[in-house]
Order: sequence, then C-alpha cells, then structure tokens
Amino acid sequence: MDTRTLSLNDPHAEAEAVRVLAAGGLVALPTETVYGLAGDATRGESVARIFEAKGRPSFNPLIAHVSDREMARRIARFDASAERLADLFWPGPLTLVLPLEEGSPVHPLALAGLSSVAVRMPRGAASDIIAKLGRPLAAPSANASGRVSATSAGEVRRTLGGRIELILDGGLCALGLESTILKVEADGIRLLRPGALTVEEVEAATGAQILAASGGGIEAPGQMSSHYAPSGRVRLGARNVEPGEHFLAFGPQEVPGAGEAAALVNLSEAGDLREAAAGLFAALAGFDDPAIERIAVAPIPERGLGQAINDRLRRAAAPRE
Ligand code: AMP
Ligand code: MG
Repeated sequence: MDTRTLSLNDPHAEAEAVRVLAAGGLVALPTETVYGLAGDATRGESVARIFEAKGRPSFNPLIAHVSDREMARRIARFDASAERLADLFWPGPLTLVLPLEEGSPVHPLALAGLSSVAVRMPRGAASDIIAKLGRPLAAPSANASGRVSATSAGEVRRTLGGRIELILDGGLCALGLESTILKVEADGIRLLRPGALTVEEVEAATGAQILAASGGGIEAPGQMSSHYAPSGRVRLGARNVEPGEHFLAFGPQEVPGAGEAAALVNLSEAGDLREAAAGLFAALAGFDDPAIERIAVAPIPERGLGQAINDRLRRAAAPRE
C-alpha cells in the first residue's frame, strides 16, 4: 500500500483524513500526546486493521477518541465524578475508563471484550477530524508493536509506512507522552497508567486522592481473560465436530461432523483473518450460555491477525478458576 503524507498546513488535509476514515481506512494523526494510529472505532474491520498494522500478537482495549461530551456519553456512562474530571481536563491528555453505555457504538474488538471503555477527548486537528467524521476513533500509539510511541510523522512513516493510507504531519507532538489513564469507580479514582497529566495536578484540582491500581499498573490483556470466556468447555484446533458440539468454523472447507453440530458460526467463510477478528468477540459472546457445554473451534492460521485471534482463543479455552 502506498502511504501518503499530508501536512496539516495543507487546507485539504483534514477533509482527506475524514474521507479515508469514512471509507474504513487508517490515518496516523498528531495529538497533543503522541501520534495516534486512527480508525473508525465503530467498524470491526477498521479496528482489526489497526491491530494488523501494529503487528500486535494480542488484542488490548483501545482508547475511543471523541470530539465532544455528547459523543462520549453515547459511549460511556458518566457519574458525577467522571463529569467533573472531564470538565476539568478535557480536551487534554486524560483518558477515563468508565462503564460501557448501553447501545454504545464502539465495536467489541476495540474493547477487547471488556464491559468498560476508555474515552478521551484530544485537542486540535484530531478533534476536528472526529467531529467531521461524526464517529469515535480508536487510536493507539502510531508505532509497530514493541516500539516506542511515535512523536513525529517521520517516525510513524518508518514503522507504519506501507501499512496505512495516510499520515498527517503536524510536526512534533506538544507533550510527547501518552495520556494518563484513570478508572472512575464507586469507591474512588484509580490510576491505571501514569502519563502526561500528573497525579498531583488531578489531586490539586479535584481535592480527591488518586488510588493506586488494584493488581498493579495497567490492566494487561492477561487480566481481562474471563469476560467473553464462554461458560462451556472450549476445544481448540478442531478438525472435526463431535455430535452436539457448538462449532466456531473458519474458512470455506467442509469439516467432518459439521452436520451434527448443535450450532455453527463461521468467523469467515472466505478464510479472511480481518473478518474473523472483527467477529470474534461477538461469536464468543453468542456461545456464552450456561446451556452450551462444549464448543469446538477450527484451527486458525498463526500468521498476521491469526496470532492475536489465537491468543484470545487460548484465553477462552484456559481452565477457569
Ligand atoms: P494507548 O496505547 O495509548 O491507546 O492505550 C491503550 C491502553 O488503554 C490499553 O493498553 C489499556 O491499558 C488501556 N485501556 C483501554 N481500555 C481500557 C479498559 N476498558 N480498562 C482498562 N484499561 C483500558
Ligand atoms: Mg503504545
């Protein structure tokens, strides 16, 4: 893929970014923290492409970036304390982890299956683009997995060039540090990730004491295992279906015994990993029913997005404590 770069000084840059995003494409754009690798947070295939472009071997929840409070409230449930934090620090380098609002348009893949959601309102061009698109953007740092967050368009091009449609060059990011992530809970506000907004600033402005994260630090993918782990037993790498099993298929090939499956869902009849990633969490949720005791899952190739899909499936199959 040919990755174009447009300067933010170009009067057509924002409109072009909106056009690419509305078509499901990916745009690296500057925010006040670091460059974000942005895609439409409501489209599973765009979110799948973000993970693919970053080459991450697992799915982690992504921050939904919004342009105004109304959009944020359609995504997440704000209590008084969350409203106050947003009043004080939005737009800005503060991400709030809140309960997911009913009917939230954010795609389950961007949530990595969680029932909470991280939301942030950035400053500047990113915010204008989101407002024009009219939908939230998922935008993790614009770097390949395992590399440091990119703070210039040149760094973005070095690691993501050829994998995304467009880079908007807005020069160096003002802060150069990721957003601070706070989780707002009934018993207080917890720091999930230190970032550009200091705990001291938050405490001084709110008068509240910020609590340390329970379980230490950021909620890593390993801690989120159980949400969409179905209650039944999961058999991976299934090349046949035993009578009465629920079957999660992948690809066009016929599988022996499939006719006797209790139910069959194909993650992608075409064998497309992007489509499979986009449908994975919904499929696991659909099989999460106490009446469903046995689930067989077809082998998924361990390449590209298949790595992250298999990581999630292994978690779903792991014994529950
Ligand atoms: P970034 O790479 O800056 O987009 O940050 C994404 C990080 O936000 C993830 O790795 C998580 O640590 C955190 N995050 C996103 N959503 C949630 C959530 N629902 N609960 C806890 N942490 C979250
Ligand atoms: Mg990052």
